[in-house]
Amino acid sequence: MSLDSEYSEQENIDNKLCIKEESTYPFSNKISYKECKNNVTKRSFNYLIIKEGVYPVNSEFPSKKQKTNNSMPSKIKRSPQHYKIPYNYIVETTWGRAIKKRTVRCEIDYNKDTHIYQFQIKYGSDFQQVVSSNISPTTVAKIYEQALNPNTKATISGHIAPPLFSVIPINNIVFDELHVFLRITDRLWALVIAEIKEHDLFNDLTRKVIVDEMQRLKVSFYFWENKDSKTWEYTSLVGDDKEIVIKSFNLQLLFRSSRANLIRKLWDDFYELYCSMKNKTTDPIQLKKQALDWLLLFLTPSQGNPNDLNFTQGLYLPNQITSYMHVLVYHGWELLKKHQRWGLRAFSCSAVEKKNHNQVSAFFRKTLKNGGNLLKRKPAIQEIIEFENRTLYFTCNPLKEPNSVKKLRIKRKTSKGFIRVY
Ligand SMILES: [Zn+2]
Repeated sequence: MSLDSEYSEQENIDNKLCIKEESTYPFSNKISYKECKNNVTKRSFNYLIIKEGVYPVNSEFPSKKQKTNNSMPSKIKRSPQHYKIPYNYIVETTWGRAIKKRTVRCEIDYNKDTHIYQFQIKYGSDFQQVVSSNISPTTVAKIYEQALNPNTKATISGHIAPPLFSVIPINNIVFDELHVFLRITDRLWALVIAEIKEHDLFNDLTRKVIVDEMQRLKVSFYFWENKDSKTWEYTSLVGDDKEIVIKSFNLQLLFRSSRANLIRKLWDDFYELYCSMKNKTTDPIQLKKQALDWLLLFLTPSQGNPNDLNFTQGLYLPNQITSYMHVLVYHGWELLKKHQRWGLRAFSCSAVEKKNHNQVSAFFRKTLKNGGNLLKRKPAIQEIIEFENRTLYFTCNPLKEPNSVKKLRIKRKTSKGFIRVY
């Protein structure tokens, strides 16, 4: 097992790379491996074979049915033509020079009962530190890289700066697909409104055209003027309504035909891109291409001189790209690739949002909202959580059926007749 298996793709690219392997094994247990280009050594590794290992009889790689101890179970495909993996194998690998010199001990074990391989890399001065995986040698090599350098940019391409929120490792971050849709739709809509304003056409008539079109789409939408800032504000649409608008809003009502068609294409392609991203059967490479094409469309440049007749107006500028667009275009495909088993929808935060909504509604509906009692005032969050605790408690411990209320009736005689006292 060598640590360089992840570089194997690069080796094919450079056909002038020559590999020198010096070994007299089994006479000597040392093997030296070098990669040279134009007679210059690019990389070299020294291996010390401690245990050669044996090939398991009828070895199998963990199949879908078998459980693994790791957090990444099942679905490991290993074609029959793949090289066999030995077990009870220990090799020390050394590379780098001077202070960069490192030695690790790579070990492979195999459990005959469960057919599970255990790949380990031991490191440190006394090999006292261990990382392991039961997926593949490459996986354990990646885990080792991560352990050594937590900010490694190995798996997120183009990631340069340390994460803003370093509590969560960068590799564990997935975007929320719903918000990708919501925020990009907001941007596309705002760009249309901005364009109308730019042409000084954002007047009562245009606003009426928009509101009427929204009515046709059965989306409730209004404009109103903010008295303080003197700006026009409009309804912030919910997700379902945004979807209707992005799919069906008739842009021909607002722009000349060619312009409307161009913006319509941008909106249609965005919606298609969003659907591909949500679909876990989408090929990530296809998604990457589709996303880049969409970005190019977004950035369609103008052609010609604005005063000429044959001038064609482009779409938008690079400074109008938002971070959600960036993440969709440049990272959507790799997130899909990484989480294809579940699809990106599995990471949707809508359940959390729903809970937030429920709690906020419960707070305004059912609690005392501090009851006006300043001395007993509790923070809102405490009231919400206490309310939730009570609800959960009585869901798990239902109260006994209450005894039916008995009415006692005492009759007392007075001079004027009977008075009933309850
Ligand atoms: Zn990025």
